[in-house]
Amino acid sequence: MKPLEERIAQQVSAIPRSGIRDFFELVQGRDDVISLGVGEPDFAAPWHIREAAIFSLEQGQTSYTSNLGMPALRESISRYVRGLFGVSYSPENEVLVTVGVSEALDLVCRAILNPGDEIIYHEPCYVSYSPSIAMAYGKAVAVETKVEDEFVLRAEDVAAAITENTRAILLNFPTNPTGAVEPVEELEKIAQLAIDHDLLVISDEIYCELLYGEESGMKPGKHVSIASLPGMRERTILLHGFSKAFAMTGFRLGYACAPPVLTEAMMKIHQYSMLCAPIMSQVAAIEALENGAEAVEQMRKAYAQRRNLVLRSFREMGIPCFSPGGAFYAFPDIRKFGISSHEFAVRLLEAEDVAVVPGTAFGQAGEGCVRACYATSYEKLELAMEKMARFVKTL
Ligand code: PMP
Repeated sequence: MKPLEERIAQQVSAIPRSGIRDFFELVQGRDDVISLGVGEPDFAAPWHIREAAIFSLEQGQTSYTSNLGMPALRESISRYVRGLFGVSYSPENEVLVTVGVSEALDLVCRAILNPGDEIIYHEPCYVSYSPSIAMAYGKAVAVETKVEDEFVLRAEDVAAAITENTRAILLNFPTNPTGAVEPVEELEKIAQLAIDHDLLVISDEIYCELLYGEESGMKPGKHVSIASLPGMRERTILLHGFSKAFAMTGFRLGYACAPPVLTEAMMKIHQYSMLCAPIMSQVAAIEALENGAEAVEQMRKAYAQRRNLVLRSFREMGIPCFSPGGAFYAFPDIRKFGISSHEFAVRLLEAEDVAVVPGTAFGQAGEGCVRACYATSYEKLELAMEKMARFVKTL
């Protein structure tokens, strides 16, 4: 029999395993470790949201829904997105409810790419971008953002990466893993590039509710979606979901908003591969959008305090760390210690039982930094920072 390895499709064999997962195998089964690793809220979903899901089960809501998602949820999403981004999408044919932003990303790649087509994205970035593009037979083209430049994506660097095969630019602001928020002037230039070269834009705005500023003396941030800029709505696929701001990762719910032709194409793939998102998660999501604002604000305030603690601690340790404008990650620059980000993370774990993710898990552009997720309790963070301070003295 032919070895099973040889039966795996080439584009699947070619993709590496997630660097985060690889690193966290080292952490598996050790309860003594304080993990600043996985990018997930430490909060449970707010009780009223869980209660909505429980009540839907009690009522026997256990069926499929419309492929696009429940009409009531699509209406809530449309209203919410209009409020947050100032862009209107029709709940009839411009909103698709998906199994997380993860599925939405996969759908959009499969919907728009022919083999060899290119998508430009910025690195360091969320681990699934390049593999999702590759699995859709596309070519992932990374544009580096730099710590010296506070991880701003420069339109001129995007312009230099455009070829005749470029189909789309994939953006993620606030950014995982850096927490960077794109300055509006630069976003406008990228929008102009997309218009000039007739490109689509895929905008993953999953962290957009989690912005900081006023607590740390920065200008209070108001999220600007590229979809809201002139001429962009018709060429943007906006991705958003419930995992981060509403602490609903396990509900597996997200959505894509886009003009009807694109929504229809994504819906066709979703219809045959997923059918629909789980109904109890959809019911919970309506509750989240209609009544969840207060809980989101409470969690955001807690993250803001933790963010300040982490930034202050890095500063005290003499580790440069730029002030992230959003999400729940700090991405300190550890180059002064003269070791790789992987070695830093492994040695920190061995010496002090604190887990951070090597920057290279987010692409080569992440070398020299590590990602510390501060979506963990203030007390644990204080202890983790003490331990890290002790560790860096030994370097
Ligand atoms: N995009 C980004 C930037 C993320 O950080 C994550 C989760 N870590 C996702 C998408 C996937 O989120 P979901 O749970 O909605 O699939």
